[in-house]
Amino acid sequence: MPVGGVKKKPGVGDAGQLPLGVTQNGICIPYRHRSLGGGRSGGDSRSKAPDRNSSSDVVPISAFRRGILAAMITDIHGRTFRNLRISLTAACNYACTYCVPNGKKLVPAESELSADHIVRAVSLLMAVGGVEKVRVTGGEPLLSPKVDAVLPALMRLPLQDVGLTTNGQFLLRKADMLIGSGIRRINVSLDTLDPRAFREIARSGDLATVLAGIDRMAAAGVQIRINMVPMRSANLDQVLPMLEYCLDRGFELRFIELMKMGHLRAGNQFNRDFLGMDELLETIGSRYEYARTDAPFDSTSVRFEIPGRGVFGIIANESEPFCASCTRLRLSSDGRLFGCLSSLRSHDIRPLLALPDGEAEAALVAVLGNALADKQPVRFQGEVTVMKFIGG
Ligand code: SAM
Repeated sequence: MPVGGVKKKPGVGDAGQLPLGVTQNGICIPYRHRSLGGGRSGGDSRSKAPDRNSSSDVVPISAFRRGILAAMITDIHGRTFRNLRISLTAACNYACTYCVPNGKKLVPAESELSADHIVRAVSLLMAVGGVEKVRVTGGEPLLSPKVDAVLPALMRLPLQDVGLTTNGQFLLRKADMLIGSGIRRINVSLDTLDPRAFREIARSGDLATVLAGIDRMAAAGVQIRINMVPMRSANLDQVLPMLEYCLDRGFELRFIELMKMGHLRAGNQFNRDFLGMDELLETIGSRYEYARTDAPFDSTSVRFEIPGRGVFGIIANESEPFCASCTRLRLSSDGRLFGCLSSLRSHDIRPLLALPDGEAEAALVAVLGNALADKQPVRFQGEVTVMKFIGG
């Protein structure tokens, strides 16, 4: 069986055989990505670039089977997995002060998943785990050559949404691929509009290049969200300029409350720099009138509207924890699933990816049940791992 796709199934109409994409135990596996190598799919008409909005080529799991799977992978809080974050590589071209302690840039994990394996993992997680939305992240996803194969392949799967989280440094360089893939949403992590503060926080990169990349994507009609980690000692003075920059361009700014990940868990830097939702709102309220607005059930951000101007959000890990409604699952660049950002427990799915479909599906149900049990009941506790390893 080729990696990166799902074992070839007998076609519809083959007497006495299963319809396309349906395994012997009735689970549907999207079959498009048997392989990412365009030429290798040869004359198979099913490998044509599909309409993302159409799932007619994916035979649905039977309602009965779906019900059983849903019950098996749902916890007592009603949480299940809907959103998958994929760390394409652990490597990053930045060394942000809140992400790595010593300014040393992170390098790829010892053995990272291939593009084919990533797409196969997503196909299985869609079929077995009910994953509907995928975000490609890292490390820095645009640093990895795999992104050129993975992103367009994910765009062809019948997912509800495919997004990308990037520091933006390579947006210009990757513009043609990104626009060509049809991606609709990109989150850019940007903590300041001040070039000096930028270099102090990211310890690398060039602000003007990031801003030009954002403009290029926005001009192509890609929806931009900006993620900013507000920190008392580093960029408190940037809260209002960043908000104005985003409102002017129709971007949603999301403030991510500093999280006690990695070296921040020790406390000193965290306590010095943490800026909570109340203080942020006070700062914003000094210039703008805002009102809280609706956010989807499993949204991580609390959203606010500034009438006539736009919206902004706060990912209030500390001030308003959202663990109870979290539907996120993370796949690390070396093939481990994490059910919770606040847990060191991981579940290696690399061996599973080499199994025939039926066995892979059965094994994945058990793995997902365990990953779900790793979720915190109420609030983020902090963890020694850093986001770059497991996909921020
Ligand atoms: N390199 C990409 C980027 O910069 O967007 C993706 C990976 S980065 C780890 C994803 C997000 O995690 C970024 O928005 C970053 O600001 C955030 N992040 C990392 N460590 C954090 C921490 N300790 N607290 C809050 N946010 C953090």
